[in-house]
Amino acid sequence: MSYFDSKLLAKFEGMETPFYYYNLDLLQQTLSKAKAAADKRGFHVHYALKANFNPRVLSTVQSAGFGADCVSGNEVQKAIEVGFPASQITFAGVGKSDKEIRTALQHGIFAFNVESIQEMEIIDGLAAEMGVRANVSLRINPNVDAKTHQYITTGLDENKFGLPNSELERAAAVLRDCTNVDLVGLHFHIGSQITDMNVFKSLCVKVNEWKNWFEERGTTIRVLNVGGGLGVDYYAPDEHPIADFETYFDIFDRFLERTPNQEVHFELGRALVAQCGSLISKVLYTKNGVKKHFLILDAGMTELMRPMLYQAYHKIEKVGAGAEDTTNYDVVGPICESTDAFGKEVPLPISERGDLIAIRTAGAYAEVMASRYNLRDEVRYCYATEGQLELANS
Ligand SMILES: *Cc1c(COP(=O)(O)O)cnc(C)c1O
Repeated sequence: MSYFDSKLLAKFEGMETPFYYYNLDLLQQTLSKAKAAADKRGFHVHYALKANFNPRVLSTVQSAGFGADCVSGNEVQKAIEVGFPASQITFAGVGKSDKEIRTALQHGIFAFNVESIQEMEIIDGLAAEMGVRANVSLRINPNVDAKTHQYITTGLDENKFGLPNSELERAAAVLRDCTNVDLVGLHFHIGSQITDMNVFKSLCVKVNEWKNWFEERGTTIRVLNVGGGLGVDYYAPDEHPIADFETYFDIFDRFLERTPNQEVHFELGRALVAQCGSLISKVLYTKNGVKKHFLILDAGMTELMRPMLYQAYHKIEKVGAGAEDTTNYDVVGPICESTDAFGKEVPLPISERGDLIAIRTAGAYAEVMASRYNLRDEVRYCYATEGQLELANS
């Protein structure tokens, strides 16, 4: 039985589509589980804002006691505004502008995850100008294959992220000359939607190697930041609504070699928010082509771009459907691009104009990527909490 049953169908009566539906109860449960599993091991978790910065989603995450992981100056600003303590904000990204660096320095964030030697020198110079000190972690590209889609792999030699191994000797030397920069630790982030737990074991091996490398050279490493990347089940959202945080954190607990004062930090995005969101859309037209049956929805790549950008799979369901006969549809949007399809040959109950379709597991990297292409409406959303539906901007 799907979460989107006939009772919810009745609640959606009269609501303007398309809209994001956020189940704040599931979000709360997910956050509690993640927090408990991390706290138990003394781990610190920063939430990757870029996954979802919808107002209520963000305030719920903030209230649950997570830090923030930002990838732009505006995200740093936003994190501060919603109440994340500056002492728990990290700032990553290969292309931080001077303005963004100044914003972060002004707030005195926990650490910059520095991705090149030149960036470190620029941060040092700007900190000197402003008369402040900058905390930095070195983002190391560990050349570990995340075994995820190539478009969301970040930790291989061919990726643009982090310092290549060949530069670390020089980075350590430059760091000693940067008089306004303090090293807090090492940072790694190898990719997203990682479902093979062996990948995280391989990461631990690399982290241990690099930690030892620095410590042998007399450098104290206070923080080991292993990034994010924990995957979720896009195929069975109702069977696995909450990611397996216990197994995930346990791997780092067992395989990372820590000295007693060393902290372990994580930056989770997707695993915290993906399952609480769905995109609800209405069938505008059905069309039988020469080879295909099409369902043409009122949502498209302007609301949810993951299928078109990353060839990502999302489970597609008819809201309120029972055990009906199915037919295979290409489920497409209204945007004037051939890539504007959510799924091909999707088995769905026979559908007609006016039926509601739920595109599941759309809480991460979804609403945040919405655009106004084709001069589409601003994206709409609503929240469900304790069985009540609250309309937001729709
Ligand atoms: C995107 C990102 C994350 C979050 O990744 P998820 O796969 O959503 O957990 C963490 N750290 C950095 C540096 C990132 O860019």
